[in-house]
Amino acid sequence: MVTGAARGIGAAIAHRLAGQGVAVAAVDLDTAGCARTANTILEVGGRAIAVGADVADENAAARAVEQTAAELGPVTVLVNNAGIIRDNLLFKMTSGDWDAVMNVHLRGAFLMTRAAQAHMIEAKWGRIVNLSSTSALGNRGQANYAAAKAGLQGFTKTLALELGKFGVTANAIAPGFIDTEMTQATADRLGVDFEDWKAAASREIPVGRVGTPDDVAAVAGFLCSEDAGYVSGQVIYVAGGPKA
Ligand code: NAP
Repeated sequence: MVTGAARGIGAAIAHRLAGQGVAVAAVDLDTAGCARTANTILEVGGRAIAVGADVADENAAARAVEQTAAELGPVTVLVNNAGIIRDNLLFKMTSGDWDAVMNVHLRGAFLMTRAAQAHMIEAKWGRIVNLSSTSALGNRGQANYAAAKAGLQGFTKTLALELGKFGVTANAIAPGFIDTEMTQATADRLGVDFEDWKAAASREIPVGRVGTPDDVAAVAGFLCSEDAGYVSGQVIYVAGGPKA
């Protein structure tokens, strides 16, 4: 299961996993968007379904896991990627902005993982990947998002400790600047041209460019593979350099 798979990083991870032979449930609030992701996988001969769900809703998360298990088999791979931003400087941030971000990133990952881990324990094999961010290290205007992304790192390490003996690994990927609608939305909010912003960011990034969803998907593909069985509780920064 890949949450937030309608577009951006989630869609790229869904395609990558399908290419590795994994049957993929593309989960998203945006039902039409996740159907597009699933159809593209089906068109190239993969196995996929679309599941419309709000990961922050306890019943919806449980139903999404049940539907996936019924249609594709036990859920042994989970990528908690669904995310939103509600950026603002702390003094202007509303409690609604805070709660919305905590609900999708932290509550959503918790609910999805709690529901899916039962299948992994039963199968004695599982892979959990949580999307953190370089913002976990602190980012102006993102007190809510930074706290949620740092929280996901603690969540990931705890999952690794609790679930390791059942053959389940848990790791986090912390991307830096990735070219998606989320970063486009940030540029719009800041009132800067997206292309100019990417060019400026590229000058600060050691590899000299911003990242693509496929850069993140490649790492997720490895972490979800059989080969990654001895890697657990790690946070892998995918940011084109050692710093945010
Ligand atoms: P994106 O383009 O905004 O896509 C996020 C997807 O998640 C959207 O399709 C969105 O659906 C879905 N979603 C939001 N809330 C949901 C919910 N409650 N239940 C189910 N689906 C939900 O974002 P992205 O840039 O690909 O980012 C993916 C992940 O990587 C996020 O966790 C993000 O925080 C993280 N990340 C991104 C970057 C970056 O530079 N882009 C950097 C570091 C980390 P709707 O459109 O219907 O809301």
